[in-house]
Amino acid sequence: MTTANASRAAKPEDDTGPTPRPLTGRHALITGGNRGIGAAIARELADLGANITLAARDEAALQEQSQALSQRGDTAVACQTMDLRDAASITRGVAAARDELGPISILINNAGVAPAAPLAKLQLDSWRETFEINVQAAFLLSQAVLDDMQTQGFGRMINISSTAGLRGYPFVAAYVASKHALIGLTRALALELSKGPITVNAVCPGYAETEMAHNAIRNIQQSGKTEAEARAILTRGNPQGRLIQPDEVAATVGWLCQPSSASITGQAIAVAGGEVM
Ligand code: NDP
Repeated sequence: MTTANASRAAKPEDDTGPTPRPLTGRHALITGGNRGIGAAIARELADLGANITLAARDEAALQEQSQALSQRGDTAVACQTMDLRDAASITRGVAAARDELGPISILINNAGVAPAAPLAKLQLDSWRETFEINVQAAFLLSQAVLDDMQTQGFGRMINISSTAGLRGYPFVAAYVASKHALIGLTRALALELSKGPITVNAVCPGYAETEMAHNAIRNIQQSGKTEAEARAILTRGNPQGRLIQPDEVAATVGWLCQPSSASITGQAIAVAGGEVM
C-alpha cells in the first residue's frame, strides 16, 4: 500500500550509532497495528529500530498511524490493508509487505475481536469469525513468514492472547476458547521450532485501556450500570485495581523481540497486574 520512510529502510549492519537499537534493520509485521495495543507495539518496535508494516482493514486508520510512526524516527513504515478472515488477503498482504520492506523477521499476531453473548445467544457465525481472526490468522501468518525467518537466522513470533487464554470469563465463550487455542498454537510451534532461530511466545494482557475495553464497558452499561460501575467490574479482577496501559503490553513484546531473549520460548506471559499467577 503506502510506505513512509521506505527509502530509509536500514540494513542490520547499519546499526553503528552510539546507542545501538537491537532491532535495527529487522522487519516487523503487526496485525491490528492501526490502533490500541497494536499501535503501541508498533511504536515500541520502531523505537527499538525495526522497520514496521501495519496490517488491518481500516485504511484511513492505517494511514494515520503510519504517518504518526514515521515522524518518530528513521525507521521505514508501511501499511497493508488485510482482512484476517480471508486467507487470500493474508497471502497477498504478506507478499506485498515483503516486497516493500524485505523479509519479515518479527510477526506480531495482535488483531483480535471479542464478541460478548451468553451461550444461548452465541451465534455460530460469530464463533467462526472469532476463531478466524484470533486463531486461524495467526496460524496462516506464522506459516507465511516461516521461510523468511529461517533464511534470516532470526525470528520472533508473538501472539497477543489474553488472561482469557489462561482462565475463564463468563459471556465471552468464543473469545476465551480462541485465546486458549492461541496459547496452544504458541506452545506447539515453540516446540516444533525450538532447534532453530525462531522463538514463539504469547503475551496475555488483562483488561487494557483500548477501544475493546471501552466496548466491554458500554456492554456492561446496557444492564443499567453507570460507567464508573462498569469500569469497576472490569478492574476488580486486577489486584492493582486498574486497566493495563497499551504501552505496558508493548514493552513486554519489545523485550521478547530482542536478540537477548533467545532462550524465552513457548511462554504465555501475563501483563495483568497479578490477575493470574
Ligand atoms: P482493538 O479493538 O482496539 O483493535 C483491534 C484490532 O484488530 C484493530 O486494529 C482492528 O483493525 C483489527 N482487526 C479486527 N478484525 C480484523 C480483521 N478481520 N482483519 C484485520 N484486522 C482486524 O483491540 P485491542 O488493541 O484492545 O486488542 C489487541 C489485542 O489484544 C487483541 O488480540 C485482544 O484480544 C488483545 N487483548 C485486549 C485486551 C483489552 O482489554 N483491550 C485484553 C487482553 C487481550 P480494523 O478494524 O481496521 O481491521
